Amino acid sequence: MRSPFENSITHARSLDRQDELKAFREDFLLPVDTTGKPLIYLTGNSLGLQPRSVRSSVEEVLDDWAQLGVEAHFRARNSWMPYHELLTDSMSRIVGANPHEVVIMNSLTVNLHLMMASFYRPTRDRFGILIEADAFPSDQYAVASQIRWHGYDPDTAIHRLSPRDGESTLRSTDIAEYLDQHGSQIALVLLGGVNYYTGQFFQLDTIAAHARDLGCVVGYDLAHAAGNVPLFLHDWNVDFACWCTYKYLNAGPGSPAAIFIHERHAESFDGPRLTGWWGHDKQSRFQMPDTFKPTPGAEGWQLSNPSILAMAALKASLEIFDRCSAEIRWKKSCHLTSYMEHLLATRCPAVEIITPSDETHRGAQLSLRVPGGRKIFDWLSDHSVIADWREPDVVRVAPVPLYNTFEEVYTFVSLLEEAVSA
Ligand SMILES: *Cc1c(COP(=O)(O)O)cnc(C)c1O
Repeated sequence: MRSPFENSITHARSLDRQDELKAFREDFLLPVDTTGKPLIYLTGNSLGLQPRSVRSSVEEVLDDWAQLGVEAHFRARNSWMPYHELLTDSMSRIVGANPHEVVIMNSLTVNLHLMMASFYRPTRDRFGILIEADAFPSDQYAVASQIRWHGYDPDTAIHRLSPRDGESTLRSTDIAEYLDQHGSQIALVLLGGVNYYTGQFFQLDTIAAHARDLGCVVGYDLAHAAGNVPLFLHDWNVDFACWCTYKYLNAGPGSPAAIFIHERHAESFDGPRLTGWWGHDKQSRFQMPDTFKPTPGAEGWQLSNPSILAMAALKASLEIFDRCSAEIRWKKSCHLTSYMEHLLATRCPAVEIITPSDETHRGAQLSLRVPGGRKIFDWLSDHSVIADWREPDVVRVAPVPLYNTFEEVYTFVSLLEEAVSA
């Protein structure tokens, strides 16, 4: 099939003119160089850009605090007591959940631990946790420490899924076969929805169905998936999920994270859970009773009263997602990433793309093995490109549909071509 893409800046510009989302770029503050020219920002998978509306949203909280003090919990324009509830509907749409299955709280790794406290229930015969061999380090540490906490040995309890020799990503058939062979020993499947290193988007529905059939609990870390790829956690019957909001969700450094707990658990949970007053039944929370009575749903896993200042930034960011059709965002995302892939194949054939080429197996990210490695990366950094370097030899670039343009992708590939051929 002939590619729909042409290798020219005029074509890139015409794609931008036809882009249904082009107005959204105006909603973000673009980092600039010393002359004020926007940099080519391709690290929205690491730290999403600041929505312009964040400042006024945060200032509103500062003003309410200044004018009302503690009374702002009840009398602020958006009162603080139920502030997180303002975000639940938007967030549940992003991950395909019912609102009572989602709550915003804590940070990602903390939530992974809280979820494992409830859902990793090892027994003598079934105590394994299945992860990707190249899972994000924090997830690996959290998993290993949970296993030790329960008195098992990470060396025998951690099952690692590795790509075949000479391949960079996992084959769906190999994941299925691993589950068939070892599923009966696996208590918990804990995969990244989109692998942070390779950008591979796993077939989360198939894996969840298969693993649950074998009696495993299924949890997903959606740090690189939320706000990036289509998710239907409720329909996929996932047991739980956790994600942060500072990557594709643009809520700022260290912004509050979120969890999903399927309603079959969330409504009447009698397993172990680590608790705090914010998860207590809302009606009686301030009567300060001695015994914990959970709020129904995911909210029952909250521990502490949250940072309203941080939630204000997330609120502003989620309002942008509310205004943008998820289908159109996904369509542009596929288009923009494929465009980058096409230009790389045409102009930089020496660059190996390790991210899957199937659009349904990736999101807004390509991971590139670049000849010249770190040297090339540094050269790009000196030429206005903000990309991401991962040892030992991978450059990650994320063309984000809400704010990146076809012209930026074109310029990035032109610079990479210049760097590689120099
Ligand atoms: C970004 C990321 C983290 C970061 O964890 P924090 O607790 O937010 O610092 C953890 N896991 C994955 C898979 C990530 O992509």
